[in-house]
Amino acid sequence: MLWYDSHVFAGPVVSVSVDLDPVECYFRIHALPGGPADEIRHVILRRCLPRLADLFARHGIRATLFAVGRDLEEDTEGRRILADLASAGHELANHTHTHPYDLVRLPRPRIAEEIDRAHAAIAAVCGRPPVGFRAPGYEISAEVIELLCARGYRYDSSTFPAIPYYLAKAAVLGLIRLSGRRSGSILGSPAVLRAPREPYRPAAGSPYRRGDQPIVELPITVTPWLRLHVIGTTLVIAPEWLRRRMVAAALGSPFFNLELHGIDLADAGADGFPAALVAKQPDLRVPLARKLAALDATLKEARDLGAQFLPLRDAAEQTVSRGEPAGFAP
Ligand SMILES: [Zn+2]
Repeated sequence: MLWYDSHVFAGPVVSVSVDLDPVECYFRIHALPGGPADEIRHVILRRCLPRLADLFARHGIRATLFAVGRDLEEDTEGRRILADLASAGHELANHTHTHPYDLVRLPRPRIAEEIDRAHAAIAAVCGRPPVGFRAPGYEISAEVIELLCARGYRYDSSTFPAIPYYLAKAAVLGLIRLSGRRSGSILGSPAVLRAPREPYRPAAGSPYRRGDQPIVELPITVTPWLRLHVIGTTLVIAPEWLRRRMVAAALGSPFFNLELHGIDLADAGADGFPAALVAKQPDLRVPLARKLAALDATLKEARDLGAQFLPLRDAAEQTVSRGEPAGFAP
């Protein structure tokens, strides 16, 4: 889509993306012993993703689905669901091969392998090589951006300049460490908190500063006030008045990059999530109907404002077409 088409839409560009983190990731974050039982190992792709696909169909949205390469290799049914969604017009993008939270701390060849194996698996599923990347746990580095540029990626969408999230993550990781355990997650540089909130080209050697790298960074949306993260997890947990205010703030920007996770539409009881995980993950304690209502209302509010829904791939092209550093400036 050419950028000048957008003048027929009065509202902002809205991109909805889903990180398809497998259940095993949540065991790693919370340092839960063992791994998920076989019955729930593939629940995100097989049960949560179809619910999200129904939601998108109701609102006429083509979304971006960030897939973990290993799942595509191991889960035939999940692979088929993703292939069908790609045929229906959704974008499949790269969320690494094994979702290592410490991606940025791995040696360069291992980082490259994480990107390349997922790249190949996704290209095999949808017949179209991915052009977008999101890092596990939102942690990128100059090295990761460099590797993506070398592979011709058009965009990265990992920057998450959310102040309350950063502080909460620091607190949780601290508590886990105090208890003598070790989370699979890591705390990255606080430089992310000063990153632009709008799309930008990152600087070589400094992914959170504007520069001239041949890739577009599409930050995940935070509110202008408090830099509160407007993502699925917060929208389904927040009281209705706060959800409305966060969404209104996000829709006040030219570009709303709405990040969801597959787990956002989990039905903890029916899907068989273990009590130990439900105890750690507040959104799993919210009834599915309530979570669906929150996301439905959010997408309706966007539509009512005349939003133009685009997969991240197309949103990145718009940014490029308009030239830098203007991005989505109206
Ligand atoms: Zn993830």
